[in-house]
Amino acid sequence: MKAITVYGPYDARMEDVSKPKATGDMLVIKVKRTGVCATDHSIYTGESSFIRSGEIKFPCRFGHEYSGVVEAVGPEVKNFKPGDRVYTENFVSCGICDACRRKDYMSCSTILSVGTVNCWDGCYAEYMQMPERHVYRLPDELSLDEGALIEPASISYDAFKGVTLSEKDTVVVYGSGAIGMIAAWLAKYYGAGQVIVVGRNTEKLERALLIGADSFINNKEVDATAKIMELTAGKGANLIVETSGAVQALRDSLNALAKYGRISIVSFYEHNLDDIPIDPLVLGCKSIVGAAGCFGNASAVCEIMRKNPVKLTPVISHHIPFEKCLDVFENEKAYHNEKIKIMIDFE
Ligand SMILES: [Zn+2]
Ligand SMILES: [Zn+2]
Repeated sequence: MKAITVYGPYDARMEDVSKPKATGDMLVIKVKRTGVCATDHSIYTGESSFIRSGEIKFPCRFGHEYSGVVEAVGPEVKNFKPGDRVYTENFVSCGICDACRRKDYMSCSTILSVGTVNCWDGCYAEYMQMPERHVYRLPDELSLDEGALIEPASISYDAFKGVTLSEKDTVVVYGSGAIGMIAAWLAKYYGAGQVIVVGRNTEKLERALLIGADSFINNKEVDATAKIMELTAGKGANLIVETSGAVQALRDSLNALAKYGRISIVSFYEHNLDDIPIDPLVLGCKSIVGAAGCFGNASAVCEIMRKNPVKLTPVISHHIPFEKCLDVFENEKAYHNEKIKIMIDFE
């Protein structure tokens, strides 16, 4: 089968590799859609902080957002058969340690991440192998495109954990990439009265209105903090979801946040940050939390996708055939301005 391996910065190759086997409790999944993530790009360029820390090592078979169809099932697989449409968790637990036996997979001592940290072979490949415990059936109502959006949605989902939103609340999302767009979609689903997306490209920002945002601010043209204060009668936002990875956006978030508000960071900055004002955070009893997804999010967010009449598919800006997939990385500049979620199609 064909798969892409990154051998070092700017050195990704599509190669023939051996097809995985359906042994034990493993399924072999024919990949149908793979979403391109900013993390994939940072692995390709070598800029990912996880490469510097040694947690992602070259060569790396990357890719972690996908949906597919079951091709073959191992002898111990109970609940799936060939032809089932599926999506999966973005990690693989060992299945035998004490934590795994309690189904506390996030505490597994040898957990692997699909296509990233402690890499389980990823989904820029014609076939994936996954243990049954991490595989889910894609509901009939959802397309394969939506199936491949479940993984990024499961990351955005963490930004809302422990938050209750109502009609009087304002949610501001920094960043108009897929994670930001999905955060705006979730904010509206959870009942926020006002959802504002802040970004730097008006064409992309207009798509946010299609998935539930009430308004957007192009912060190349307008002072976003001042505008947020104006739109919230001087109170600030109750929840800010920072998905841009820009240090200035994090600084601005602290100034645009209401008292007792929360900033959820769903982004990597790829280096340590200086000069972040902490005293206003303390004085305003505000909080900052990190959000990176965990076990159970995928099936929870799939259920929201199934129930929510507002479709997420407007976040897909491109469809590219797998054979041309390397172009997305090698000529990133050609896609940069328009891309939100690039979807790789297999045949
Ligand atoms: Zn991703
Ligand atoms: Zn384990």
